[in-house]
Amino acid sequence: MSGRPSRPSPELPATLNARDLLAIYRPDISEELVRLNAPPYRHTQLYEHLVRRPGATFIEASSLPLNLREALAARGHTTLEVRARQDSADGTTKLLFAARDGVLLESVIMRYARRSTVCVSTQVGCSLACTFCSTGAMGFIRDLTAAEIVDQVRAAMALLETEEKRVGNIVFMGMGEPLLNLDAVLVAIRVLKDPAGMDFAQRALSVSTVGIPAGIRRLARVEPQVNLALSLHAADDTLRTRLMPVNRRFPIAQVMRAVDDHFVLTHRKLFVEYLMLAGVNDQLRHAHTLATLLQGRVLTVNLIPWNPGCGDYRPSSPAAIAAFQQQLAERGVEATIRAGRGLDIAAACGQLATRTAPGRNPKPASRDRARPGERRQPQRPKPTRRRG
Ligand code: SF4
Repeated sequence: MSGRPSRPSPELPATLNARDLLAIYRPDISEELVRLNAPPYRHTQLYEHLVRRPGATFIEASSLPLNLREALAARGHTTLEVRARQDSADGTTKLLFAARDGVLLESVIMRYARRSTVCVSTQVGCSLACTFCSTGAMGFIRDLTAAEIVDQVRAAMALLETEEKRVGNIVFMGMGEPLLNLDAVLVAIRVLKDPAGMDFAQRALSVSTVGIPAGIRRLARVEPQVNLALSLHAADDTLRTRLMPVNRRFPIAQVMRAVDDHFVLTHRKLFVEYLMLAGVNDQLRHAHTLATLLQGRVLTVNLIPWNPGCGDYRPSSPAAIAAFQQQLAERGVEATIRAGRGLDIAAACGQLATRTAPGRNPKPASRDRARPGERRQPQRPKPTRRRG
């Protein structure tokens, strides 16, 4: 990858042609075509090659003249390079990628009977240091570009194509906080849903967040059909701050106001993610507090058994999770229990980290950067635990 940040996208026009999309998806390649004096239709041909033939290299872009292909091929692989693949007994696959600047990142493919889901990363590492999350323990390395986000999907499509399967859903729930890299995420969504390209339905896309209010509102304005998942994990501020230091900056009431605004703009059901930690947040009084917080809203709670990886936690027992679900149901709050996937290859929720990869990521970035729409970043909390 070029390492170049994707162009800010707050004011993308309603319709974009393939040439525009190439320019925002791969500005480096678009600029290279300009430098090579390639006519405008070559931009369109290359964009179509990249998005319609996942896994194909530049040299295989047979609609382009050989000299152009050779010039592009000299730039190396198209974006991300798959460095390793791990397959779980349950049909989950974890892919380890190297970007062109050497940073390592992971994404996960979950195969289901009818369709498959790919869980993509939006950052390398994460600045938010949730205490149960291996990615958070890495620290923040850098944002991914739109092309690096899309290319995780391209790689999944290429892999599944060999099995005569296809990607059905894309969830932005891998490494990083998507709403802290929202410019790139919005461009990636634009490319993924482009009818002339990959043509994913907007409702097949889900963005997960710890609750960045300005980002939630902007996502609702720009992509109202994309699903929103809120990582809540606790319904009172004291406990949530203990689990997720970002809660100091954005306490629960602020976050709930933002998701209510999201609903007003989108009329979309909210998904609330709730990690079940034995003896920490899984008792009936916690379910009661959660129900009180959520009652009356259009949402589903996903109860997620904790996956070993980071933090001194234990998973809640199946009986505790069932009782928690029952308590929510009695209070009129719909809840499902999510089956853990990819545990044996450390691909489950909260387990992604490139610490065991062949090659190392650079040191974490030393400071947070201001993001559009936020006056200031949540303070980077001091690490409270060793890496999981
Ligand atoms: S759970 Fe998400 S936001 Fe929290 S540290 Fe992990 S990647 Fe970052």
